[in-house]
Amino acid sequence: MHRDAGELAQALAALDAAGLRRERRLVDAWPDAADGTRALVAGRELRVFCSNDYLGLAHHPALAAAAAAEAARSGSGSGAAHLVSGHSRAHHALEEQLADWLGRERALLFSTGYMANLGVHAAFAGRGELVLGDRLNHASLIDGAQLSGARLLRYAHADAGAAAGMLADRDDCTLIATDGLFSMDGDTAPLPALARLAAAKRAWLLVDDAHGLGVLGATGRGTVEAQGLDARTVPLLVGTLGKAFGCFGAFVAGERDAIELLLQRARSYVYTTALPPGVAASASAALALVRNEGWRRERLRALTARLRAGAARLGLPLQPVDGPIQPLLVGDAARAMRLSAALLARGYWVGAIRPPTVPAGSARLRITLSSTHDEAAVDGLLEALAEAWHAQAVA
Ligand code: PMP
Repeated sequence: MHRDAGELAQALAALDAAGLRRERRLVDAWPDAADGTRALVAGRELRVFCSNDYLGLAHHPALAAAAAAEAARSGSGSGAAHLVSGHSRAHHALEEQLADWLGRERALLFSTGYMANLGVHAAFAGRGELVLGDRLNHASLIDGAQLSGARLLRYAHADAGAAAGMLADRDDCTLIATDGLFSMDGDTAPLPALARLAAAKRAWLLVDDAHGLGVLGATGRGTVEAQGLDARTVPLLVGTLGKAFGCFGAFVAGERDAIELLLQRARSYVYTTALPPGVAASASAALALVRNEGWRRERLRALTARLRAGAARLGLPLQPVDGPIQPLLVGDAARAMRLSAALLARGYWVGAIRPPTVPAGSARLRITLSSTHDEAAVDGLLEALAEAWHAQAVA
């Protein structure tokens, strides 16, 4: 695109015409600082059903206190990349705690999950090699593959048989990558079958469990735990700290040498400023709560069951998935926007997800639950949803 006002206006108008212009909604305040499910927007209090704060930790006072105390001790910024002077005690302790929790030899912090996924591809997928990925993988996995210079083949969503078929007579695949719990669909990858395929092909299996970690599995160790796998069968695990952990940042966990190679090779690790040490301290506080407060997961499951039972009663076709991400498939992007607006008018903030985040024709409402929602909020959302859904079905 040239630097030309006409071309710019045309590009933006095309987004408008397709109903695909994205907008930010400004949160003015949190009426209760300790409650992340209620936000003040344009003078109205909204119930938030679109964040990834599944365990209600983003507003937990222990996290804010840990961040403030560490910032007072170690400074607000890390001042440099990890490989320069940016790697502090708080970062190191968090890496060790994460590795210990996940039963892995080592963990390496990244500034975001996006960068962690770029980094793994940079380290383990080379030019001329093949990466296999689920068709609905997160954008950062796709971008990671593309940046690495490897060839990316995408198999049908959650179809390990299709993945195996693509590799039937080739042995140049070095990395198989998948989301654990899919962010926009709420379902999980078929990890045992993918692990068998990866082992047979001597490929790395990378599971990005940004959404499953802290939430799924008996002790919250995520999709890998929920499906009975371990560090040997899933050698590379990406987790993020900005969702169930309520903070910011991400990590890759795995065997000692694999993580060392990542540290050496990942440009998104080497050439970027380390997280503020306060954020690392806050994530350590979050990890302690994730480990010790299993009631948060139980409550999340109970609220999810309540939402699903209510939706079934009211004729709302939620996708058949169990986790805290409960998509309601709409299809048409404009209708998804209308539904989201109708909910907003009733005080419920639910995201409408449109292409290109999801494939064309599969726009949806992405309802997410948090363990700090109350039953009344879930029931109120159901009522508002049923009214909007049925009113718009006949319109
Ligand atoms: N992986 C998945 C599956 C995600 O959903 C996201 C965030 N939406 C990321 C990675 C990126 O994580 P971060 O927000 O920390 O960059």
